[in-house]
Amino acid sequence: MTTTAPSLPVYLDYAATTPVDARVAEVMQRYLTVDQLFANPASRSHMLGWQAEQAVEQARRQVADAINADPREIVWTSGATEADNLALTGFMRANRARGLHLVTSTIEHKAVVDTAKALESEGFEVTWLTPGPDGRITPEHLRDALRDDTALVSLMAVNNELGSVNDIEALARVAHEFGAAFHTDAAQAVGRIALDVVAQQVDLMSLSAHKAYGPKGVGALFVKRHPDIRVEALIHGGGHERGMRSGTLPTHQIAGMGEAFALMQREGQTDQVAIASLHQRFVDGLATLDGVALNSPADHAVPNIVNVAFEGVDGEALLMALRDLAISTGSACNSASVEPSYVLLGIGVERERAHSSLRFSFGRFTRDTEIDHALALIRHAVQGLRVSTR
Ligand SMILES: *Cc1c(COP(=O)(O)O)cnc(C)c1O
Repeated sequence: MTTTAPSLPVYLDYAATTPVDARVAEVMQRYLTVDQLFANPASRSHMLGWQAEQAVEQARRQVADAINADPREIVWTSGATEADNLALTGFMRANRARGLHLVTSTIEHKAVVDTAKALESEGFEVTWLTPGPDGRITPEHLRDALRDDTALVSLMAVNNELGSVNDIEALARVAHEFGAAFHTDAAQAVGRIALDVVAQQVDLMSLSAHKAYGPKGVGALFVKRHPDIRVEALIHGGGHERGMRSGTLPTHQIAGMGEAFALMQREGQTDQVAIASLHQRFVDGLATLDGVALNSPADHAVPNIVNVAFEGVDGEALLMALRDLAISTGSACNSASVEPSYVLLGIGVERERAHSSLRFSFGRFTRDTEIDHALALIRHAVQGLRVSTR
């Protein structure tokens, strides 16, 4: 391998998905072909089944360790989307006696927003909290929304468009004061901030492998082992995962997620130190351009996500002019629509500025040279578009 100019396009969309770490891919390959451990991990009648089950259980420990949970508290899912659905719908349906009220925020991932809307049409009542301009929900703000019949509070750990970090420990404490359970979507948080379900008193936590250098199509829901924390299954079948989620477990996907989370536990902090210096390099470079402002907050934010407004430039046009960069206008799910990001609107950014905004996100494999190359392309594109619209 040589270290010449970066190959194009430069991938700065790690918040949409990360590449699978080669060490993870290597582990995944052990569970697929006829000469390997391909058997059904639920097969109890032969050795190959037990060995696949052992691989699943090792991964369960690895994922549990990364958030200080007990392995028995990990329920495999197809990703964080399904984990969010199971957490919200599964918990609200199982706890009707406790109350029909759910509290969440307007800038949650669509997997939470749309699930909460579906619950509204099912007869549950939802309070939608509006975050501050920094993308955070304060404990005081949450306290005002809580009621005797609040069954669940769902607030994300790290926002996927802004990188803003909620104080989940403080929020969970307030939820518990009112007897409500606390769920957090931590898909963007693994390896980026400290996660400890015991210290942070989290009852339900959604996780995804592919935001943490694992494969797409697998995730987990942490469900605290406590009589008050029950979720009703959404997918019925063979009674896998203690009845909470049926379906044959994908051994290779799960082993990959386990390895990815173990690597995050070992290397996540070191990654973030390196990424913080990439962030500084990028932001310093942007500062030499006129009319550039950050939508991401300066404090309480992860350095791997930078949301930037380019004054007087249409974001879609800029995206087109930056074909050599793999970036997005916000969440991947929105990049097909011309509506500005609901997350930016949700923190009070005006429509025009939201239309002029792009999200850049960095990761384990991002290099200084790629940041410099991206900056040069951005400078050229922004200047070109400003000239042409004058
Ligand atoms: C990516 C993401 C999801 C969805 O995860 P999948 O595993 O792709 O289903 C949910 N929440 C957040 C915050 C995310 O970033």
